[in-house]
Amino acid sequence: MKQLATLIECSLLWFLSIFELLKKQSKNKEKKMSIAFIDLLAQKKALGDKIDNAVQKVLDGGHYIMGPEVSELEQKLAEFVGSKYCVSCASGTDALLMPLTHLKLNKKDAVFVPAFTFTASAETVAQAGATPYFIDVLKDTYNLDPKSLRAAIAEAKEKGYHPAGILMVDIFGQAADVDEITKIAEEHNLWILDDAAQSFGAEYNGKRLGKVGFATSTSFFPAKPLGCYGDGGAIFTDDEALFEDLKSLRVHGQNKDDKYNNIQLGFTGRLDTIQAAILLAKLEIFPDEIKKRQEIAKRYNEALKDVCQVPVVKDDYLSVWAQYTITLKEGERDELIKKLTAAGIPTACYYPIPLHKMKAYEGISEVVGGELPVCDFLSTRVISLPMHPYLDEATQNLIIDEVKKALA
Ligand SMILES: *Cc1c(COP(=O)(O)O)cnc(C)c1O
Repeated sequence: MKQLATLIECSLLWFLSIFELLKKQSKNKEKKMSIAFIDLLAQKKALGDKIDNAVQKVLDGGHYIMGPEVSELEQKLAEFVGSKYCVSCASGTDALLMPLTHLKLNKKDAVFVPAFTFTASAETVAQAGATPYFIDVLKDTYNLDPKSLRAAIAEAKEKGYHPAGILMVDIFGQAADVDEITKIAEEHNLWILDDAAQSFGAEYNGKRLGKVGFATSTSFFPAKPLGCYGDGGAIFTDDEALFEDLKSLRVHGQNKDDKYNNIQLGFTGRLDTIQAAILLAKLEIFPDEIKKRQEIAKRYNEALKDVCQVPVVKDDYLSVWAQYTITLKEGERDELIKKLTAAGIPTACYYPIPLHKMKAYEGISEVVGGELPVCDFLSTRVISLPMHPYLDEATQNLIIDEVKKALA
């Protein structure tokens, strides 16, 4: 009798463990089907076998470094933005560091950088030898505040710095205030380097970014509007001397006439041929993807404008919507993240800590006026919702409903 009881007990336990396992598996399946923040696999599917064929062609061709796809891509990218030259490179960070290195900066050179951005915007300024001078941003576009820029230029002079240049960041897919920033740069004899890592394809006054300042840098990190399947970046310029120097810097400071007698210290800064081939395939559908992003942003704007502060795009500007970022009221964010997570909706927080509050910049940077109230405000209030060209209407409606429910 006792043996029988044990047997039943064991079978029951076995049955229960199988049941638990099945439950777990179905949960995992649910997870797999949940909404993507940026759906790169949907994009890959839309491209059919184009990517696979392009990669296979590179594999079979054997030119893995600086193969023909690299120069073909550079030519097409330059055409796309309307710049004279394009130099592809290993990352968006290298795309900033190489033109900054070209300038031969020192610690007394103040470079004005908004503090509400990814660290690479200021990291590269410091690595190139200059002092990042942090400035504030605007509440509506999240881009640098020209008033804060003016104040910083005056303050830097008083502190004995040489105001050298502006690192103009085009955040979340939208160009910063090009007219105003260009005007200030001209007045104070400052150069502009445009960090368009998040904004390749964006437009200001009907023109594509790529010609503001002495150079424009972009990134092809997978999650950026035009992304590859690894790291990659590019620099755009109309300046032939800079173009030649960037090509040297990209390959260890190579001398173009004598390959084995280097003229300067440089980088391992090349874009892989495989990544160039992938980008060539993706560039073909990129204009259509930008259009789709407009429709999705418009739908979000209309549905959410009454429950939160929706992003503002300037007149005659076109955002490529690298992020769709809303601003919430005090205390709303944690609760919203919790509710959306429970509903299977991913969110991201760009940026929870502004650069001037990071340990990395202690002692090597300046902050105009000692504090940046808007950067501090936004870092506790913003949240980004899923945004990519393949976000279908039903999924977007689900996201909208959950956000509205949570913020009601
Ligand atoms: C992503 C990003 C970079 C750096 O690009 P990587 O390709 O990741 O090196 C630079 N600046 C901004 C604003 C970015 O968002």
